[in-house]
Amino acid sequence: MKIALVGIGKIALDQHVPALAASPDWELAATVSRSGAVDGVEAWTDLDAMLEARSDIRVVSLCLPPVPRFDYAMKALQAGRYVMLEKPPGATLSECALLDRAAHDLQLGIFATWHSREAAMVAPAKAWLADKTITSGRITWREDVRKWHPGQDWVFEPGGMGVFDPGINALSILTEILPRPVHLRAAMLEFPENRQTPIAAHLHLSNGIEADFDWRQEGPQTWSIELETDHGTLALHDGGARLVIDGMASAAPNLALQGEYPRLYARMADLVRTGQSDMDLAPMMLVSDAFTLGRRVPVAPFHF
Ligand code: NAP
Repeated sequence: MKIALVGIGKIALDQHVPALAASPDWELAATVSRSGAVDGVEAWTDLDAMLEARSDIRVVSLCLPPVPRFDYAMKALQAGRYVMLEKPPGATLSECALLDRAAHDLQLGIFATWHSREAAMVAPAKAWLADKTITSGRITWREDVRKWHPGQDWVFEPGGMGVFDPGINALSILTEILPRPVHLRAAMLEFPENRQTPIAAHLHLSNGIEADFDWRQEGPQTWSIELETDHGTLALHDGGARLVIDGMASAAPNLALQGEYPRLYARMADLVRTGQSDMDLAPMMLVSDAFTLGRRVPVAPFHF
């Protein structure tokens, strides 16, 4: 199937282009980006023009930041294309609901991807937790924004989500592996005095689960979820690549995070073949609730 990639920036080049090149399902037939391009692939700067000229391209995958993404997604749907969305699926929940509704009404499919759910040990963690009751938990998601988002000012603009840009990855894993949904009880958000989005967040969820997201961590980076249950403890480390149950490490495949985007594109191929959507907004709801309930604390200005 022919696919177009829109928004040729960091994640498109790091993950989407290699995953598509290695896939038996897909041919990267065009890109749409104001300045980015991929060697050897037809490059457009305007989505409408590409949609008009390339009726053979059935699927559009959007790698833009969340704020500009809605208009692109709606145009692609209205032009009869299936749509794949980078995470988070939009800047607001109502945008996501409108896109889901439009895909349904137009008898197309839309996929809100959550790449962290495709990490190698997430499915085994979900299977182990299926018959357990969570009694408490701790999420630690601490990384260096200068390393992972160098100069990307959009993350600190309204709709950029700040530290929830990585934090939503943790919440996407949590909402996938828990046997029953949780909800947010309270939150504390640390906003740099010169920025519009938080650089750190502390969430208090039901079932005694605490989350600590921080973008100021230099040196070793931490992406861990630890859960106590009525029948033992489970820990997912390294963003879902490593699983430890009751202190015993499960054998992890090498390079366990490298399968994330190939698995997302395999799933997208299935959705197109079967004419379905997959638009789970549970991680985004928790983030939205944190902005609704969160107590705001000003902290030191942040500069890249
Ligand atoms: P990025 O490099 O800053 O942006 C991607 C591209 O989108 C840019 O190169 C730009 O291409 C286009 N773009 C930016 N602002 C735009 C606007 N206002 N209107 C139209 N096009 C615009 O961002 P990224 O790091 O790839 O992240 C994109 C999405 O992927 C985010 O939702 C992020 O959460 C997700 N993601 C990122 C990572 C990561 O490691 N960075 C990992 C997983 C998921 P042109 O200038 O050529 O148009």
